[in-house]
Amino acid sequence: MALPHNLWLPALLGALATLHAYLALDTIPRVAAARGAVAMLWLGFGAAVLAVGVWTTQYLGHAGTSGLGGARAAVAGGIAWASAVLALCQAARGRAWLAGILLGTGLVLATTFDQRLDRPGMASCLACMLLLGAGGAMAALAWRERRPPAPRVWSAAVLLGLTIAALPVAGNALAPDAAMRPPAQVPGAAAFVISALVLLLAAVVQLAQRELARQAAQIRGELESARQALVHQAFHDALTALPNRAKVLAQLQELLPEARRDGQDVAVMFIDLDGFKSINDTLGHEAGDEFLRRVAEALSASVRPRDTVARFGGDEFVVVLERFRNRENLGAICEKILARVGAPVLVAGQKVTATPSIGVAVFPDDGAEPTELLRHADIAMYAAKERGKAGFCFYEPQMIARASERLALSTDLREGLGRDELRVCYQPKVDLRSRRLVGLEALARWAHPTRGHLPPSMFIPLAEDCGLIARLGERVVREVAGQIARWRAEGLPLVPVAINLSMQEIQGVNFVPSLLRTLAEAGLDRHAIEFEITETAAMTDVHTTLRHLRELEALGFRIAIDDFGTGFSSLSHLRQLPARTIKIDQSFVHGADASHHDREITEAIIALARKLRLHTVAEGVESEQQARWLVQAGCDIGQGYLFGRPLPPGETATLLAAGFAGAPIDA
Ligand code: C2E
Ligand code: MG
Ligand code: MG
Repeated sequence: MALPHNLWLPALLGALATLHAYLALDTIPRVAAARGAVAMLWLGFGAAVLAVGVWTTQYLGHAGTSGLGGARAAVAGGIAWASAVLALCQAARGRAWLAGILLGTGLVLATTFDQRLDRPGMASCLACMLLLGAGGAMAALAWRERRPPAPRVWSAAVLLGLTIAALPVAGNALAPDAAMRPPAQVPGAAAFVISALVLLLAAVVQLAQRELARQAAQIRGELESARQALVHQAFHDALTALPNRAKVLAQLQELLPEARRDGQDVAVMFIDLDGFKSINDTLGHEAGDEFLRRVAEALSASVRPRDTVARFGGDEFVVVLERFRNRENLGAICEKILARVGAPVLVAGQKVTATPSIGVAVFPDDGAEPTELLRHADIAMYAAKERGKAGFCFYEPQMIARASERLALSTDLREGLGRDELRVCYQPKVDLRSRRLVGLEALARWAHPTRGHLPPSMFIPLAEDCGLIARLGERVVREVAGQIARWRAEGLPLVPVAINLSMQEIQGVNFVPSLLRTLAEAGLDRHAIEFEITETAAMTDVHTTLRHLRELEALGFRIAIDDFGTGFSSLSHLRQLPARTIKIDQSFVHGADASHHDREITEAIIALARKLRLHTVAEGVESEQQARWLVQAGCDIGQGYLFGRPLPPGETATLLAAGFAGAPIDA
């Protein structure tokens, strides 16, 4: 079937060639992205699509005049394919101009390879065709570039398609009598069908490849976000989203060599919250979590954005400061943290506070390695806790010995509680005028197997820190209850015995049930025991303390505020506390000998207690002179070495039998 030469034929050829060109150009990025055999396959495939396009347009374009059928069509297609392979290969390497020259020359060769070159005008005809072929192909490939957006590929394809379609037409026009060959062997419609089938196949392959590439990109994207999430999880704390220990260690690992090179100091602050456990125990873990989030915010707000704030777990936070002026500057930052983090916050409808204790270690003076710096900051933090909490300490080398001793002692204490090494001594409390025995205070002692009897200051704070205080307190209550029961069985006149409590003990969920059980086992009523809680402890978390103390009061126990004058009681809180007694701290009693000021404070406390109808006990009375002015000031009860030191149960029994400690004041 011969196709008539009219206008729509060139248009049809142009469209056909454009489609072939588009699908061939579309393989260039795949050739560029693939390696080895896959790249070769894409190259062969793209070139074949282009070659079929060239062959079809050549065949149909020449069909009316010369035709390229049979073996010659195959040769033309082969030339087009070979030049397309070379051209696509160069285009994939980004050499668009070279690719254009190769393709253009190939296209002209495929059109003219079977024509006689010795005819007149053929040289200029060939030159014009080369200009058209190479120019068009170069322009198309250069326009397309390597990884271009789709509209650009389409326009490049149109350019290349028109070039391919124009070449046979130009050949016909320039040398109409050039045809020397027999007519086409393949009918025109069949050429269309072949071209359409190749186009269809190429389109299917390209679409399938695109879909695969899209799926692969999606999987890659999902894998990448999963990887990022894992990395984030591994280096961040889930609760506060702050960096974690691993992140800080990695950061210090990078930072310290740089700081060493630049002669810069780096400070590491280890921060632990005092009394956080009680927030968790009383308000629940959700409130505890919320509180920790608020602490994280307050900490971040206390330092500059370039400083690192991290959570190491529990109530432990770390701040890394890269640039600071000097140690005074660090001190000011610690003060800021103390003020911000220690400020009360509203959590679960309650105002709560947990003051921070901060330890500071500075690179390079206090440690050369990240782990060493962190350990030393931690040790300094413990020193801050020992010095009364809610403060900060800079690391000093001698703290190490103290820390390892602490560690050894905490292990000993754990074992000691199991081995029953805890003892209780009793110190008399007397009516200051008559010296009649009105009460006893139970004071814990630790009979350490190698260090001898240790005072409470050496193990009570330790027990609080390592979570042993509840066990220790339970032991003391059991021991005291058992002792009172034994004295009663001996027929001795009894007085109330005061037991010291730490806030952590009262807040323990088992405290009240275990207390009541112990008293019931010993057959004691609730007046046999009083409780003393220090003013500082009572004021740390007023609402919680009030709740617990009111519960104890409702059960019939008497409560005394210990070490009064050393804390920061507000009068309104003092009025709310269900205490019957305040114990004036011994520092005022001792100080009163030398200082008018202390004497006046003591007198004011006694006057205040009277107004609030509270009993007063003066602690640390050591001399008759002190006892006398305390009586004059209106104090009811005294406790101190003047009336007796803390005694073991046997000697206390003698005191109970006598009922007096020392001679009456007006004797
Ligand atoms: P505290 O309750 O204020 O006990 C009074 C402390 O002052 C006792 O020290 C006592 O020995 C000492 N003291 C008494 N009279 C005088 C005196 O005239 N002069 C001087 N310089 N000191 C005197 P201790 O036994 O070392 O206890 C210290 C603190 O340990 C107690 O202070 C109390 O807060 C705490 N503590 C003692 N036993 C326990 C206990 O079983 N549980 C709890 N949570 N704390 C306890
Ligand atoms: Mg006490
Ligand atoms: Mg006291």
